[in-house]
Amino acid sequence: MKKFNIAIDGPAGAGKSTIAKLLAGRLGYVYVDTGAMYRAVTLKALREQVDLNNPAALTNLAQNTSVYLDLDPGGSQRVFLDGQEVTLDIRTPMVSRNVSQVSAVPGVRREMVRLQQQMAQNGGVVMDGRDIGTYVLPGADFKFFLTASIDERARRRYFELKDKGYAVKLEQLKEEIAQRDRMDAGREFAPLVQAQDAVLIDSSTLNIDQVVAAILAYVRRGGQ
Ligand code: C5P
Repeated sequence: MKKFNIAIDGPAGAGKSTIAKLLAGRLGYVYVDTGAMYRAVTLKALREQVDLNNPAALTNLAQNTSVYLDLDPGGSQRVFLDGQEVTLDIRTPMVSRNVSQVSAVPGVRREMVRLQQQMAQNGGVVMDGRDIGTYVLPGADFKFFLTASIDERARRRYFELKDKGYAVKLEQLKEEIAQRDRMDAGREFAPLVQAQDAVLIDSSTLNIDQVVAAILAYVRRGGQ
């Protein structure tokens, strides 16, 4: 059976990675978290104290960095930066705060997009990000734009971070998420925007299982 490519885009904290991972598991596809790639480059830039206001320096850094996703059919994904595992290190609030500035640099994006397109070339991929349906895989078989209210997204992220042991404040988190969305949607090159042919899903009042079921049903009906 032909293996499809499925693109899932949307703002921060909409549940894209949770949903994409579950979908990949159900379909026996590979899950590709493109945000993890921008996070890995950001982590390296912070560690090496590269000036985040210098696009040429960031482009140079991205060109000389190996970002590798260990893709496991069925969902889980380990992230390697220059051969070292950084799966947990890329999720810190410090990386979250700076990633939009790094990912706005066209030279950084070109490097990551090239890798993303390679990963999808044989199909069977559920890829989540901001520009997958519009820029990375414009020909994806199915495209979804997953969103939720800012309050709901902040609440979900708050509990996720609290579970991981980070001391975060809900209001501050809400402001940071809103700021990240503004930067991601406002950048010139491949911004966060719903593709014209993407199906919009607002998960504010849906739970994870309901979203996964809706997407699976849609895919199995062949997009009808
Ligand atoms: O998905 P996640 O929240 O981990 O993404 C982190 C950041 O990476 C986003 O806020 C955005 O700046 C960037 N990103 C992007 N394009 C993608 C995926 C993520 O610019 N396809």
